[in-house]
Amino acid sequence: MVLGKGRERNSEHQAPKPIFGDSGGAVIAAIIPIPDRQPTMTVEGAAAASGDQEIIAWFEGVAENAGLVQTQTLRRIIELNHSTEYLQKWLGRDLRVQDLDPVALESLFTSSVPLASHADHEPYIQRIADGDTSPLLTQEPITMLSLSSGTTDGRPKQVPFTRFSCQSSLQIFRLGAAYRSRLFPVRAGGRILEFIYGSKQFQSKGGLTVGTATTHYFASEEFKTRQKSTDSFVCSPYEVISEGDYNQSTYCHLLLGLAFCDQVEVIASTFAYSIVQAFTSFEELWEELCEDLREGTLSTKITSPEMRRAVMGCLTPSASLASKIEKKCRELEESNWSSLIPKLWPNAKYIYSIMTGSMQPYLKKLRHHAGDLALICADYGSTESWIGVNLEPSDPPERATFTVIPTFSYFEFIPLYRRKEQDHSSSVITDDFVEGEPLPLSEVKVGQQYEVVLTTFTGLYRYRLGDVVEVAGFYKGAPKLTFICRRKLILTVNIDKNTERDLQLVVEEGSRLLSQTRAELVDFTSHADLAVHPGHYVIYWEIKGEAEDRILNACSREMDAAFADHGYVVSRKTGSIGPLELRIVESGTFRRILDYCIGNGAAMSQFKTPRCTTNQVLLRILDRCTVKSFWSTAYG
Ligand code: AMP
Repeated sequence: MVLGKGRERNSEHQAPKPIFGDSGGAVIAAIIPIPDRQPTMTVEGAAAASGDQEIIAWFEGVAENAGLVQTQTLRRIIELNHSTEYLQKWLGRDLRVQDLDPVALESLFTSSVPLASHADHEPYIQRIADGDTSPLLTQEPITMLSLSSGTTDGRPKQVPFTRFSCQSSLQIFRLGAAYRSRLFPVRAGGRILEFIYGSKQFQSKGGLTVGTATTHYFASEEFKTRQKSTDSFVCSPYEVISEGDYNQSTYCHLLLGLAFCDQVEVIASTFAYSIVQAFTSFEELWEELCEDLREGTLSTKITSPEMRRAVMGCLTPSASLASKIEKKCRELEESNWSSLIPKLWPNAKYIYSIMTGSMQPYLKKLRHHAGDLALICADYGSTESWIGVNLEPSDPPERATFTVIPTFSYFEFIPLYRRKEQDHSSSVITDDFVEGEPLPLSEVKVGQQYEVVLTTFTGLYRYRLGDVVEVAGFYKGAPKLTFICRRKLILTVNIDKNTERDLQLVVEEGSRLLSQTRAELVDFTSHADLAVHPGHYVIYWEIKGEAEDRILNACSREMDAAFADHGYVVSRKTGSIGPLELRIVESGTFRRILDYCIGNGAAMSQFKTPRCTTNQVLLRILDRCTVKSFWSTAYG
């Protein structure tokens, strides 16, 4: 555990004027105001709805005063939860919140409560899961736990989930939608073809409902409110979302998307991976889908009775629609499915999904299917808390920024500085950063990278999220963040240190050579093989189409030479790391990896292909599916 020194503040400093009034009672309602008139999606060409204007005006106010709002937000979190076991441990039993002004309280909090990891919160979360109802992390009892995707860390982590989590999901959706509708108006009453998937929920020993955050949200009242308030409904009934078998859900999402094709205004998913998967499946499924549309039937591969009933209730046989789609699909097949989405969904205005960070490698395939349709990056958040909203929807995904919403959590930022080259000799494997003192939102600097730290309404205190972001600028007083990467190192043999982003850049570099062939990269992962001496990096590629060995050899060389990390370069030159190995795996391998992860509790809506693995089952799948190996000659 790392102890933050906290920040000295002048406690005599006058308390900032409360932004939302100061009553402790309606805390959540005050922090996340729900406008009386719900924002609605705009009728094409009409002015933005008053609800949109209202929520934009609210956000502009909190962004303008972001620093003060943060101080107030922290005060409310402490007001609510200061008598919990966790906070009493650090702030003492005698804290009288009302006697301290918010600035003094902020200073006390950051100097007394240590920076913490998930592991520091885990014993409390475990007691909650086991049925301890005393106030451990929050005063209000926690009745649900969320599972973070866990694909970056090997195992899903449980974090508290409360009504606030659903309300903030609804709020960020409305806010983002209000800004989107200024540039990309959509028809009221239109539909969203949204590839969303619930996963199995289960009861913990103490009777709490456990599931992924997206699963809880899709099942919540707030999700229904979102649809009503934006007058835009998903194509699929809840039974399709909640079933838990992503193959069956994908088929039904596609079928209903086709049935409502003229009404679809937006194509969406939580992470872009789901959209790419769905349309890759579409290339195989379209004939069967057309058959079902023509006859008003449903493929026998849909075995869930609830899903069958719900989907059949939405379908009417339409020979003319089926023939029209069939004709388009035959033409699309000829052009390798280029611009598939706008051709089949002619009224779609944009595609909306998280496309940054670990989703960036799927952009090429997404663009292939999207043609000229706008790609809008969805907001930045995590199971633990929403963080930032995309206020500039016309920016391409490569330039997307996320403006921090200062009412959602109390955010701190640990400055990260690159280690100097001579420091690389350290035998202890830490990452490549030296840390500065955590700063409040109002003190971050443009161009600087930080690790995000959260103090949430759901009972996480100074919790290191493990994400690295860069401040790209400010929107009024609120920082605009670029997502850089997960901080965790993935590839390391000895003194070398490479993150997911380093690998992503290297693979991007190497796979550029595939443009000389008729092959494309489908997905990739890696492993640091330490079983033989010297250890070396293995990068697994699944490719679609044929590539000559000569080119693949060059790809392995290119990737080896592209790792810029000083530790890696030195180790390669001295031979303490062996040549990089590129292994080509057979078609469908990453589907098997997905199936394995889903079978072990990962959720399709939050799935991220593990970019490096030490999991023996995954390594067995990868090794069994390897069809060719290429060894780099980059360092002779
Ligand atoms: P989960 O564990 O499923 O809650 O995933 C949360 C993680 O996904 C975050 O901590 C980020 O690493 C990543 N993430 C979420 N939103 C974005 C985004 N807009 N861009 C890039 N990465 C994101």
